[in-house]
Amino acid sequence: MPPRIALGVHRALSPTSRVQFRVRRCASTSAASPEIYDVVCVGGGPAGLSLLAGLRASGATQGLKVALIEGQDLEKNRLPKDATLDSFSNRCSSLTPASVKNLQEIGAWSHANLSRIQPYQEMQVWDGVTDARISFDWDSARPLLSPRKPSQPTTIAYMIENANTTTTLLSRLEELGGVDMFLATKVDSIDLGTDTERVDLSSWPVLTLSNGKSLAARLLVGADGANSPVRTFAGIASRGFDYDRHGVVASLKLEGEGWGGPDHKIAYQRFLPSGPIAMLPLPGNMATLVWSTTPDRAAKLKSLPPNDFIAMVNAGFRLSPTDLDYLHTMPSGQEEEIAWREKHTPFKKHDIPMRVAHVQQGTVASFPLRMRHADTYTGERVALVGDAAHTIHPLAGQGLNQGQGDAAALVRTITHAVQTGQDIGSILALESYNSERYAENNAMLGVCDKLHRLYSVGSGPLVGIRSLGLRAVDAMGPLKGFFMSRAAGGV
Ligand SMILES: Cc1cc2nc3c(=O)[nH]c(=O)nc-3n(C[C@H](O)[C@H](O)[C@H](O)COP(=O)(O)OP(=O)(O)OC[C@H]3O[C@@H](n4cnc5c(N)ncnc54)[C@H](O)[C@@H]3O)c2cc1C
Repeated sequence: MPPRIALGVHRALSPTSRVQFRVRRCASTSAASPEIYDVVCVGGGPAGLSLLAGLRASGATQGLKVALIEGQDLEKNRLPKDATLDSFSNRCSSLTPASVKNLQEIGAWSHANLSRIQPYQEMQVWDGVTDARISFDWDSARPLLSPRKPSQPTTIAYMIENANTTTTLLSRLEELGGVDMFLATKVDSIDLGTDTERVDLSSWPVLTLSNGKSLAARLLVGADGANSPVRTFAGIASRGFDYDRHGVVASLKLEGEGWGGPDHKIAYQRFLPSGPIAMLPLPGNMATLVWSTTPDRAAKLKSLPPNDFIAMVNAGFRLSPTDLDYLHTMPSGQEEEIAWREKHTPFKKHDIPMRVAHVQQGTVASFPLRMRHADTYTGERVALVGDAAHTIHPLAGQGLNQGQGDAAALVRTITHAVQTGQDIGSILALESYNSERYAENNAMLGVCDKLHRLYSVGSGPLVGIRSLGLRAVDAMGPLKGFFMSRAAGGV
């Protein structure tokens, strides 16, 4: 009789566990035995790749047997080798200094294509109805009594193409080696394993892949995005709602040399009642747009010819919400109409972004916006990271950063479990990950949701109150500093 392998697993789901696999047990005993892994990560987005790089880079966890399963061909998600600085992907994110620090610690940042990353040092945010404004930069946020030390940061965030983040993390993983990659391979099903004579997998998730392979996971990580199959298989509920808003994105070229000068770049966000419009700096005179608006308006913007689309983006930062309401109803001719209206609208040139001169062909797209939060990030032999655990409105540019924070925290939790001889898949060992990340992400989800609601109001007493609040925070250096350090990921 073959020796029975002791895997040290929980033989049954603990009665206190909040998560049950909503799956059938592997019926067939004649099928080939699954290959056994310590960690199987489903999803090779920024969160999953960061987790795997963190595990491989840490001395305590680099001996674990790990696998990545990703449905897409990740080669297509890499930065094109011939990419030039006058063309950028429309999928960009602002990485906080805390996320960059994590990428440095796992040895990935040195692989980043820095020429395509734009740090920015200032943010101008204002109310499109009342023009009340708040400006964020580290120097104005600090109280005069404690001037900035040379070691303190001046960068608010780094604009980076998602493809650059993916390429950076993949390069680091290639350098580290040791991850079994199943790319362009989907998870077909997840079942609980069986207790055979040789090995007891009865509490282990066993994944069947589209290539026919079968993997058993001591710990299954769902880094598989907002519609997470791992979350569904684990029976973890995810609550929330759709915002009835779409984020319109585009890669833009600005007039002249761009704004703010090479060492001082500014990000702009104007809150309109239909949603915020944001212009974020990329290298040179390039910029990326995220305009959150109603699905109808998003469809309208996408249908416009380039000259009218450009005029609408310029108007989004300059004209009144009433003007914009009208412009969205026009079947065509926005450019001419806006040129006329702008002549009659006073605005301070230095408080708004440079004019858009050109929109990169094929980059105008939109994404539905939603808020979701899983009831828990952990279950017996399951952990969720990134958008699989939470999906947030992009108005504060936090989604990808939250995923980086999750990945770093899960690496710490697994490291601790390994060092203390715990079973890395047990709910007990995973609890510190859940408690560390859940409350923090929940607070950020709440803030972004409330900001969205607060600024969706176009008239009434709330409009006056919110403007007073914005001006008050703007005038209080320490309070502003507190908000900035929270948004920067606690640097
Ligand atoms: C308009 C817009 C602007 C944004 N701007 C910012 C910003 O400025 N800053 C910021 O921090 N965030 C931003 N975000 C959010 C950010 O893009 C996401 O939070 C982030 O990409 C999520 O990363 P992830 O790795 O968790 O998931 P994903 O990137 O969604 O990756 C999930 C992966 O899982 C794979 N997968 C799914 N199912 C399976 C399966 N069955 N089998 C195998 N593989 C599977 C998918 O192919 C995918 O590669 C923005 C979002 C939007 C919509």
